[in-house]
Amino acid sequence: MNYFIHTYGCQMNVHDSEKIAGILQSIGYIECDSVDKADIVVFNTCCIRETAEKKIYGHIGQLKKLKIKNRNLIIVVCGCMSQQDGAVESIKKSYPYVDIVLGTANLEMLKDAVLQVSKHRKKFFNVDFLNTREEDFSISRTSYPNAWVNIAYGCNNFCTYCIVPYVRGREHSRPIRDILKEVKSLLEEGYKEITLLGQNVNSYGHGLETGENFAMLLTEIGKLEETYGKFRLRFMTSHPKDLSDEVINVVSKYPVICNNIHLPVQSGSTEILRRMNRRYTREKYLELISKVRAKMPDVGITTDIMVGFPGETEQDFEDTLDLVRQAKYSSAFCFVYSRRKGTPADKMEDQIPYKVKQSRITRLLACQNEVTKEISAQMVGNTYEVLVEGANFHYQGVMCGRTESGRLVNFKCDSKMIGQFVNVKIDKAKSATLWGSIVTEE
Ligand code: SF4
Repeated sequence: MNYFIHTYGCQMNVHDSEKIAGILQSIGYIECDSVDKADIVVFNTCCIRETAEKKIYGHIGQLKKLKIKNRNLIIVVCGCMSQQDGAVESIKKSYPYVDIVLGTANLEMLKDAVLQVSKHRKKFFNVDFLNTREEDFSISRTSYPNAWVNIAYGCNNFCTYCIVPYVRGREHSRPIRDILKEVKSLLEEGYKEITLLGQNVNSYGHGLETGENFAMLLTEIGKLEETYGKFRLRFMTSHPKDLSDEVINVVSKYPVICNNIHLPVQSGSTEILRRMNRRYTREKYLELISKVRAKMPDVGITTDIMVGFPGETEQDFEDTLDLVRQAKYSSAFCFVYSRRKGTPADKMEDQIPYKVKQSRITRLLACQNEVTKEISAQMVGNTYEVLVEGANFHYQGVMCGRTESGRLVNFKCDSKMIGQFVNVKIDKAKSATLWGSIVTEE
């Protein structure tokens, strides 16, 4: 019996798919490489943008033919899209051949749901918010030498453009002892990089009665190097309003915690940030960047930026370009604002015309490209420690890995070196792409 998983969206979903794979393998399913060979097809969905949602519904629609050919095929829809208001009803009506719909907080029901459908041909729909998510799944990890570890779920921030708080529920954190147990066992298994995941890792501690916070969690993991040897610790995503001095200090103190922070700014205009309900100003954000750089001069800062938010004037947009030049991000995920039903921004009257948004995103990408190029050029000739992550499938014999600051480097080496730390001298830079060669000590 085979399974095939379509994963859409963010890192949180990629990791959820590892859990889905683990659950399916625990009841005897094996991964296959196409939907045509599958007995179960899972759509692990995302609804952050309208285009993503339309694409997913299109893909679910394409399975109708397959279901007619194979009545026993089980089709599962889970993830953020299924959690939206009215989604279950709409799936039942428009895609009646879907067998299982699960929300974001009840993946643990997948095993029972599959058994119910396969044995009794009885459909299973449950999108209740349980907020009691246990981490006792068998996880089929796919990203060695990196392992993803959830530290918190949900979000309480309600940025006015964002659907996440409505589909992922209120923030709740896993206790430090559970996270530490998982991290220790991953290090024992030989993982060399741990990435902590949460919608806002900096507010870690919500829902815990023990007063645990993110700095405490980082400290506990930072101390593990003594026992487990060298590894790297990364985390995402950091909300700028909650990035405390304490966290910055801990990151700079422990060698295993990478000098790499993803700090989404979204806009460089204080007025647009206010309308987005981001709860920081342009000035506060730039102050934060200076503080981080003062503690960690080699830090790699990345960000998310949105253009075309309702009411964004040409001046607001120019402020964003100016901030990009000042902040000197090593890279940025740049997006066009997408209306999401049910969010306050969707009801704002001053929506920005499509053409203006398109022109702004082109200008923003060009601006960030210039900044990245400049940073990359400064790296040429220097040597950095890189963790070998895997093959670059575009070039034969070329592997890739990241510097501690998060820059991706291509270099030649044997695939047996995946999971090892090597020193790589940067030979050339093509904007975001760095090319180098391994340096061996005499
Ligand atoms: S912090 Fe804002 S953008 Fe991030 S998930 Fe929460 S509501 Fe969405």
